Amino acid sequence: MSLDLFVIQGYDVAMTVEPFEFNAPASRVIFGAGTLSRLRDEVSRLGASRVLLLGGHRVSGVPAVARFAGVAMHTPIEVTEQALKLVGQHDVDCLVSIGGGSSTGLGKALAARTGLPQIAVPTTYAGSEMTPVLGETADGRKTTRSDPALQPKTILYDVSLTLGLPVGLSVTSGFNAMAHAVEALCSPQANPAVDNLALDAITRLARALPRIAERPADVDARTDALTGAWLAGMCLGAVGTGLNHKLSHVLGGSAGLPHAETHTVLLPHTMASHALSSPEAMRRIASALGVTDAPTAVFDLARRLGGPGSLAALGLAAPPADDLLAAAWRGDRPAVTGERPDLSWLTEQVVTSFAKSPDPRTSALLGDLVRRLHGFVVDNDLTEDEWRTAIDFLTRAGQICSPTRQEFVLLSDVLGISSAVDLLTNSRSPESTPSAVLGPFYVEGPPSRPSGANLAEGLPGVPLRADIRITDLDGRPVPDAVVDVWQSDQDGFYDVQLPDLEGPVLRARLRSAADGRLWFRSILPSEYPIPDDGPVGQLLRATGRHPYRAPHLHFLIEAPGYRRLITQLFVAGGRYLDSDAVFGVKDELIVDFPGGDDRYVEFTFRLAPLRTPELDLAAELRAEDDAAGEVGDRPADH
Ligand code: NAD
Repeated sequence: MSLDLFVIQGYDVAMTVEPFEFNAPASRVIFGAGTLSRLRDEVSRLGASRVLLLGGHRVSGVPAVARFAGVAMHTPIEVTEQALKLVGQHDVDCLVSIGGGSSTGLGKALAARTGLPQIAVPTTYAGSEMTPVLGETADGRKTTRSDPALQPKTILYDVSLTLGLPVGLSVTSGFNAMAHAVEALCSPQANPAVDNLALDAITRLARALPRIAERPADVDARTDALTGAWLAGMCLGAVGTGLNHKLSHVLGGSAGLPHAETHTVLLPHTMASHALSSPEAMRRIASALGVTDAPTAVFDLARRLGGPGSLAALGLAAPPADDLLAAAWRGDRPAVTGERPDLSWLTEQVVTSFAKSPDPRTSALLGDLVRRLHGFVVDNDLTEDEWRTAIDFLTRAGQICSPTRQEFVLLSDVLGISSAVDLLTNSRSPESTPSAVLGPFYVEGPPSRPSGANLAEGLPGVPLRADIRITDLDGRPVPDAVVDVWQSDQDGFYDVQLPDLEGPVLRARLRSAADGRLWFRSILPSEYPIPDDGPVGQLLRATGRHPYRAPHLHFLIEAPGYRRLITQLFVAGGRYLDSDAVFGVKDELIVDFPGGDDRYVEFTFRLAPLRTPELDLAAELRAEDDAAGEVGDRPADH
């Protein structure tokens, strides 16, 4: 039985130890910085003197009779056969692989065919050197076999050789190693020795990779990572592979996906799946990493370090039918699986604290905001670091604000909130011209100009004539409407952004005549970036978004008895119409500006009648009266 019950000082301690087998890997390991210098002695130690070097690395002082640099990932047998020829031609008696898992793999493949002893000098974190496993690809299929004779006799870990491993490769290779350790913890062959190696490996890799990303030649961090990779390799060698490897091998063999990158994408998803079958293993990993949920923490770490985000990004063309693989193909963040504290008591306390506001709308808005923010924190398992990043972002947004710079409006714009509020407020009646956001460049009280004025005042650009009509919803002219117009210059700048310009330019207040018409001259507006030298610009860059707005003219139209209309006219064919940075483009507002060097635009703005609450009430009462009259007129139906 696996359950032993001890009684120690009055405490009942139940110790569950599953029966296990443990095959300690039988390799000689030499670890440190500069250990490559010991290669010659290690070759002699094996009684060998005719070395075939595998991999691109050149080493001096080693009795090498030949070198094969044409190593390829997933150990294709054609490559192995080429290298095999060198073994025969040069009477080789020892194989030395220097490089990543691909070089080690070739060493094993040659050992399988020749029985020659191998020395492995790993320069990535792949861990193959610590395993008796060989994976080979033939005709697009990867098959693996395990044989203790395939394991290198000696392994030289030289930290110096890893200092130049590019950050991208370091990250994905590190996640490959982490996958070995995670799988060992979840394996049916798990045992206490391997569990501890695995937890130590995961801790070291998670700790070292961010430091390597910051300073790739940090010897301490590299030592930590290589130690983690060695320990993870031991786990893999001792208990074999699990779900992440099986999926990676299938995708590597059949779709040619790169090994370490595929592991990196898959790991959080296979961990989420293990969280259901091996919750205790995930709990131990979370505790080692100091997080509440291991799969999402690993996902976030990979993304933070610039690891590949999805199988689609790795080139897998179609989404797989399997749920786990489909989620990895899209690059979803796995759902939080770990236990989470119930925070509803806290949420309710905060909501209740706002309930007594004299204005019920304030209570309702704040209460709902608190619920949604708490939900956001809980659902995303928000970390203290992430929260600090958000506070820092908002602080910097506030600090950059000035009378002519409104970073919070920009933030609201790029999050689509300005457009959402605008749509809710102003675009409820489909008959009126759709509205669009005000934007940050409107200036109160622009200079009054007569119809026909030229707003460009000599600025260079493609000449433009605009003929504007203002009507009500039935097409009747609206006279005396106040029409504020503003726009960018041909380089995309507004006058407020050009301190050398004297006075307001490319902005004016005009009035419609008795026939509802007005016209003006100007220049064709240009696409332009929203101000992106502040935190909002950083947000856009960090998420791969551009800051450009499609070219447009702004209008703010007011007339007594009508709802104010704030809108924009977009130049048909202009750039960024389908990716406007502030989500301001609406199809009905995309207008032809025909003409070549002399452009022309004609547009009719339809204003909705103003509805005051009193008017609405009167209309409702009238409707009720009418309805009552109808009922009264109807014959009684009993
Ligand atoms: P890799 O060996 O193909 O190396 C990836 C790239 O990194 C190559 O271009 C290589 O030249 C370069 N590189 C390696 N070390 C470098 C360094 N120090 N500086 C700069 N560039 C360097 O990739 P990998 O991820 O190490 O290994 C993947 C292969 O290993 C796959 O075929 C995989 O199946 C196999 N593998 C096998 C086992 C096993 O137990 N059998 C375990 C892990 C991986």
